[in-house]
Amino acid sequence: MSQEVRVRFAPSPTGPFHIGGARSALFNYLAAKHTGGKFVVRIEDTDQKRSTRESEENIKDALKWLGINWDEGIDIGGPDGPYRQMERLDIYKKYTEKLLAEGKAYYCFCTTEELEAEKEEQLKKGETPVYSGKCRNLPKETVQQYLKEGRPYVIRVATPKDQIIAIDDLVRGHVEFDSNIVGDFVIVKSDGIPVYNYCVVMDDALMHITHVIRAEEHLSNTPRQIVLYHALGFPVPQFAHVSLILGKDKKKMSKRHGATSVQQYKDMGYLPAAIVNFLALLGWTPDSDQEIFSQEELIQQFSLDRVAKNPAVFDIEKLNWINFHYMKELDENQLLAVCLPHLQKAGYASEQPSEQEMQWLKAMCQDMREHVQYGAQIVDAAKIFFTDDFKPENEETAAVLQEETASAVLKMFSDELAGLDQVTADTVQPLFKKIQKGLKVKGKFVYMPIRVALTGVMHGPELNVIVALMGRDKVQKRLAQSGLI
Ligand code: GLU
Repeated sequence: MSQEVRVRFAPSPTGPFHIGGARSALFNYLAAKHTGGKFVVRIEDTDQKRSTRESEENIKDALKWLGINWDEGIDIGGPDGPYRQMERLDIYKKYTEKLLAEGKAYYCFCTTEELEAEKEEQLKKGETPVYSGKCRNLPKETVQQYLKEGRPYVIRVATPKDQIIAIDDLVRGHVEFDSNIVGDFVIVKSDGIPVYNYCVVMDDALMHITHVIRAEEHLSNTPRQIVLYHALGFPVPQFAHVSLILGKDKKKMSKRHGATSVQQYKDMGYLPAAIVNFLALLGWTPDSDQEIFSQEELIQQFSLDRVAKNPAVFDIEKLNWINFHYMKELDENQLLAVCLPHLQKAGYASEQPSEQEMQWLKAMCQDMREHVQYGAQIVDAAKIFFTDDFKPENEETAAVLQEETASAVLKMFSDELAGLDQVTADTVQPLFKKIQKGLKVKGKFVYMPIRVALTGVMHGPELNVIVALMGRDKVQKRLAQSGLI
């Protein structure tokens, strides 16, 4: 029987949860679920200065919101815990002692000044700066004495010389590194905390991870990690380094390109299923031209061998298109739930809307849904109902109200509206034809002046729908405000 696939997502909780991190988490999740394997979430918090619990909470919330649930790990536990690195220091210590005893790691007492001088020397000679290995062969007695004196030290791994370190990356193919360039790097800092490259190896090995799927930027860490797998006598997992996410200008995706954190997309009213669908396509290529995938379909179809080597481009229009697709599937209550916080934030809805207000908001969102690709866009669509002191948006629009027949049209519309028992989309619609006939003007000369008088713009949802939503009083007020009746 082949080995169970075990993958992990191992974020450093050092800031907002980036969309690239969510993509790594998703690819791991899909790789596990596709094969019936296990997905582990571990927190890499050894960078104590930058790690925060707030960021950890934020990452966990975002994963849950996206439906990227884990089988073992932080919060839920599992056989290989704890799953927060700072709670695993005792485990790491045992392995460090073992490496020291076996001569595979050593104490280094070099001072910062010495290291700087060495580095400068190497740079002067045009060499890549690598630690010289000065402390690698210190006599045992000297080491003991220095330790007794309380000299500060770090611990370095004794990297084998003149070796080719090779991996067959599942995305990038065969990649080789020179062990001499890796050098004897620090594995435990002077404060006693082991570094990422070291902890990650112990954790992945002890958690029986079979596939390390992560961002391309970690490829350069991989040779160091392989040196440590060998030193510790652990089997080396398979690696899959997923390409960077670029903005449309082909530069690395950053704040300049717009929102980069999952939270920002959530706040803007994107739907989790749409984000997941979009992220899956950032690097993974399905074998058909299908673009909309449910989570089940992604699980069924995802495979690492269809993850592209070339960078993925973050196309916000595509995300909007996908999100719009998922928005269309919402019923009117779900749609309102997505839109309501945005309307409240804009001051267009009360914090605690009455039943009547809820009904109106629901109808409005429903009528505006064609114009709303994601939640926050409802504000723009709803603006026409809440901004009373508007002016026609440009000269062309203003000219509509200067047409010869505009005044008569608005007047007749106002009178007809006053005569309706009830103002609904259905009762309003016949009025436009009636005005055309009555005043002998073409449709355009009826619809446009009314639309501009009511909204200040020449586009938008159906006019009868706008009128019904606005209600008789507001419509009359705006007709009067045009100064034409
Ligand atoms: N903690 C690392 C990061 O957040 C993850 C490294 C890895 O996946 O090996 O970038």
